[in-house]
Amino acid sequence: MEAWQKSLSEAITQPEELSAFLRVEGERLRPVVDRYPMRITPYYLSLVKEAHDPIGRQCIPDSRELKENRLSTDPFREKELSPVPGIVHRYPDRVVLLASTFCATLCRFCMRKHQVQQGGFISDSPLEPAIEYVRRNRVIRDIIISGGDPLVKRDEWIEDLVSRLRKISHVEIIRINTRIPVTLPERITARLCQRLRLYHPLYINTHFNHPEEITEASSEACRLLADAGIPLGNQTVLLRGVNDDPAVMKRLMQKLLMVRVRPYYIHQMDPVKGTSHFCTPIEKGLEIMASLRGHTSGMANPYYVIDLPGGKGKVPLLPDDVKRESRKYFLRNFQGETVEYVDEG
Ligand SMILES: *Cc1c(COP(=O)(O)O)cnc(C)c1O
Repeated sequence: MEAWQKSLSEAITQPEELSAFLRVEGERLRPVVDRYPMRITPYYLSLVKEAHDPIGRQCIPDSRELKENRLSTDPFREKELSPVPGIVHRYPDRVVLLASTFCATLCRFCMRKHQVQQGGFISDSPLEPAIEYVRRNRVIRDIIISGGDPLVKRDEWIEDLVSRLRKISHVEIIRINTRIPVTLPERITARLCQRLRLYHPLYINTHFNHPEEITEASSEACRLLADAGIPLGNQTVLLRGVNDDPAVMKRLMQKLLMVRVRPYYIHQMDPVKGTSHFCTPIEKGLEIMASLRGHTSGMANPYYVIDLPGGKGKVPLLPDDVKRESRKYFLRNFQGETVEYVDEG
């Protein structure tokens, strides 16, 4: 067993165990965990000081998850958009390949909360039909390997999948979406990176949500990946009580650049049943975007996107800075000053 597999096997999965580390009445969380399983790696738990701090909120079960409301368990109709098991095909030239139903740490706000790991250990449903779908559909030039978390699989399994996709001539880029650098950084080994670097152009998008997640260990994981020539991006979810604060978000974006990760998206929380206590108003997202633009490096500015329910796609939102009168534009700058600009084109 490799060291990371040992850490993974030592993850906390029973709420009663939490009381040994934190001031939580574990037994009271039993009904939540019966419905939505819990898993927290020893490393990620070590970052939690209080159950309600920004790291704790992301991984410690909360009784509000059981609140009954009108929200859907699959607002993106991923099931309907799935032509074969393991593939979500919504956009013309790219697909998501759900390669794993397991995560090292289960996020309480997960959009696939009703699909990922509802009991059981790593499930190895055969991926051949999904790979065959990509092979047959020559329009697919970009594959996003997601899950669950694909990097909880063994090195050989990952290499087998990536190498089979790389052999398909119309597949131009491969992306892996993973939270492993954040929740189980020791899994990013030199050996894994040696294998991944053989399949460029390979991109990794990771998922940091708070500046305190950028530690020595997670920085080292990012360094290993970046040194293997893998461009790193980050997808943050805007979460109430975690990062719904311009100063926190700005610091996160700046610290990501220091570990060679380019901020890619800030996602508006998806309307998924069991996660509504994380929702913030869209106004908050726009305020955060306005606090980033011009106030810090352009490199630290991601897109703020809303994923439209019904599988209708992601839409980027910007603070409303443009007014127009024929060829005159009135543009508001980062200092709030409106400046006239004549369109000479
Ligand atoms: C988000 C998403 C993608 C990738 O979108 P990009 O904007 O290219 O990162 C692809 N397919 C589905 C179903 C998605 O939800």
